[in-house]
Amino acid sequence: MTEPFDAVDVIRAKRDGGAVAEPALRWMIDAYTREYVSDAQMSAFGMAVLLNGMTRDEIRVMTDAMINSGERMSFAGLGKPTADKHSTGGVGDKITLPLAPLVAAHGVAVPQLSGRGLGHTGGTLDKLESIPGWRAALTNDEMFSQLRGSVGAVICAAGSGLAPADKRLYALRDVTGIVEAIPLIASSIMSKKIAEGTESLVLDVKFGSGAFMKDAERARELAATMVALGADSGVKTTALLTDMNVPLGRTVGNANEVRESVEVLAGGGPADVVELTVALAREMLQMSGVDADPADALADGRAMDVWRNMIRAQDGDPDAALPTPRETHVVTADRDGILVSLDAFDVGLAAWRLGAGRARATDPVVHAAGIDLHAKPGDAVRAGDPLFTLNADDAGRFDRALDALAGSYEIGDTAPEVAPIVRDRITAA
Ligand code: URA
Repeated sequence: MTEPFDAVDVIRAKRDGGAVAEPALRWMIDAYTREYVSDAQMSAFGMAVLLNGMTRDEIRVMTDAMINSGERMSFAGLGKPTADKHSTGGVGDKITLPLAPLVAAHGVAVPQLSGRGLGHTGGTLDKLESIPGWRAALTNDEMFSQLRGSVGAVICAAGSGLAPADKRLYALRDVTGIVEAIPLIASSIMSKKIAEGTESLVLDVKFGSGAFMKDAERARELAATMVALGADSGVKTTALLTDMNVPLGRTVGNANEVRESVEVLAGGGPADVVELTVALAREMLQMSGVDADPADALADGRAMDVWRNMIRAQDGDPDAALPTPRETHVVTADRDGILVSLDAFDVGLAAWRLGAGRARATDPVVHAAGIDLHAKPGDAVRAGDPLFTLNADDAGRFDRALDALAGSYEIGDTAPEVAPIVRDRITAA
């Protein structure tokens, strides 16, 4: 086959600050998926994108080309609205677990195709795999029948057929220092979500020390770019800009985050987790045309009923005991005062070093590993009170986790201002 373009011309155009014409850009993505364009060429192109950016039109074309590299699902036959959520990832971010059943309890189907964690942020599937028997891999037929029937929500592994171009490109970006480019992040996330076929999508775009985007303004730009891509593809999309400087809730890990999610579904749980779950559910219900206060379904047990059915439908036992750690280590306060700060990145790194996360995509995680937080910023503490419980299967992991935690918190005399988690809402222009 004669190729209509040369990768080097496309690279040069972007290197010199120009826009790449639509046919050439579509070809570049397609040829990379076919392995005609090499990793070396694509990484040079990606670096040029990182340095010179892309126009809104180029981002739209690239996203569409990535969608077209694989299968496209459709839930049109379900007979009910569909809504999904994507989080850009954070520490203690277990929100998908209570959110999916909460939204499904209102008759909106939630097809939540999720991933595993890499680095200091956890993965939804890793958390759910703490539940004995629970199965992440579903066939398309199983997924449809779970969504169509009385459960209405599914959280499962994304198949390899969705946006395979992104799969290659994401792995390449990871090892060539080009993860952070907004056009590349936006097209990566949105190609998978649009290919998944949801009608509505809420994006939880996080900023702060525990987030991928440290800076709120860049997170806002990412959010606006993704919302525009959703609108271009006919997916109703809104984004919430949320604070990830402090871990969410009081657990960071896997099994402990499932326990906390079940507390939320039982009408309790930490206020920040409830606040964010309800805020995201509101967006999903509103876009689906449902007028209801989602907080009611947490209080009256409807969301819990869906959770139990959802876990059972995927062979999990919602009543089974969750894994507990073999070893624990408690860090206590060295003075009376108020917890003034708690750094999400440091806590995420410590949990990862305890075995809750993985360094390579193929590594297993330790489901019982992680950190329980006994105090959050604003809480009063007395000398000797527990601040953190570290959980691991091997006491040899504590030293490096404690190193990560050493500068992660401060006890002072003046209460800090605790800002709301949701800082802004971004909708299509
Ligand atoms: N998640 C993705 O799927 N892609 C990115 O580029 C970043 C986060």
